[in-house]
Amino acid sequence: MDDIRRRVPRTDAVLADDRLRAAAATLGRRLVREVVADTLARVRAGEIPPESAADAATAALPDTAAGLREVLNATGVVVHTNLGRAPLSRAARDAVVAAAGYTDVEFDLRDGRRAPRGRTAVAALAAAVPEAEACHVVNNNAAALALVATVLAAGREIVISRGELVEIGDGFRIPDLLTATGARLREVGTTNRTSLDDYADAIGSGTGFVLKVHPANFTQTGFVSAVPVGRLTGLGVPVVSDVGSGLLRPDPALPGEPDVATELRAGAHLVTASGDKLLGGPQAGLMLGTRDLVDRLRRHPLARALRVDKLTLAALEATLSGPPTPVAAALAADPERLRDRAEAVAAALTGHGVEAVAVASTARVGGGGAPEVSLPSAAVSLPAGLAGPLRNGRPAVVGRLHRDRLLLDLRAVPADADDRLVAAVLAAG
Ligand SMILES: *Cc1c(COP(=O)(O)O)cnc(C)c1O
Repeated sequence: MDDIRRRVPRTDAVLADDRLRAAAATLGRRLVREVVADTLARVRAGEIPPESAADAATAALPDTAAGLREVLNATGVVVHTNLGRAPLSRAARDAVVAAAGYTDVEFDLRDGRRAPRGRTAVAALAAAVPEAEACHVVNNNAAALALVATVLAAGREIVISRGELVEIGDGFRIPDLLTATGARLREVGTTNRTSLDDYADAIGSGTGFVLKVHPANFTQTGFVSAVPVGRLTGLGVPVVSDVGSGLLRPDPALPGEPDVATELRAGAHLVTASGDKLLGGPQAGLMLGTRDLVDRLRRHPLARALRVDKLTLAALEATLSGPPTPVAAALAADPERLRDRAEAVAAALTGHGVEAVAVASTARVGGGGAPEVSLPSAAVSLPAGLAGPLRNGRPAVVGRLHRDRLLLDLRAVPADADDRLVAAVLAAG
């Protein structure tokens, strides 16, 4: 041990390595210094031979200066909130990179004047949903709800069914979000049944609006009834519908899932949705509705605090006008093709001595969308001991533990990533 300590190189000597000097120029000196310090601690602990310090530090360098690591999502949950929800399409990634420098987000290059912020992204959203008179984009769907509650109901009442008081996740609850704006909730009906009369009886001079919230992450069956938006629009107050997942129009593959266009056609004055669930784009809150209401939302002081970044606007526009998204591809993947892929991956691994077998699996939409839909899928079943090394590899691979096996479900793994998946498993084993 003492012998190793004496042979530990000095930090500056390691930092003088050409590869680490180049990395300091791109990743930043502080970050490279931290990696070298960690590596030297491992040398002192006897985990790495002193003469390999520079090689080990180079191997430990992150790909980017941010701590976020790339993950291959083999969980079988397509929209996984903990894994960043929707992966952006190639078109959206390119748009983000192109917008990352100076860009004309709020400037008209033709006449050199100030222009409405993000106008091309808003125009793309309007074109995708012609049923809306106008639209506005904020940071996420929670921000959209906070904005509309503030504008229409601060100091007034939001009429909402007791069956739609939803906890979104991570302890956040829509009722708490709404009342945080200064609005009061007027709960109507019961957990399982709410009627039109329940709403009508609650409406009065203090009503700000009626809110419908899609129970996106659970289902109710049995003695249940709810009132659709189309029957609420005759009550003489604005009706706002939170559809959650961001489907713009009906998807036959997701029958229970509400969509923006249908809610608007039914007469909703405003529909709110997330950008990074089934729409397959960046985190954003989409607000579509009547011109009058959207103008009021846009002009409220709070709108400035909820305003979206140029990178989001770029990714949203490319998602709306570009090719099908990775989320759409994952949802549409053919189960037979998934099984062929799982068999090929398992065969490649078996050929290298890894104990792997293709199995049938069930995937989910996730992200608070279509909770009742299960998607037939295929997985590669591996020894459970590989879970930790795979999570800590590069790229990280996150699967699902099931009966002492690690399942790598292929539904949310892009078809062109199978080779990387095989390489990651071999590196982990
Ligand atoms: C996901 C969800 C939200 C929250 O949306 P974020 O974009 O995560 O803020 C709100 N309402 C419903 C119905 C949802 O499904």
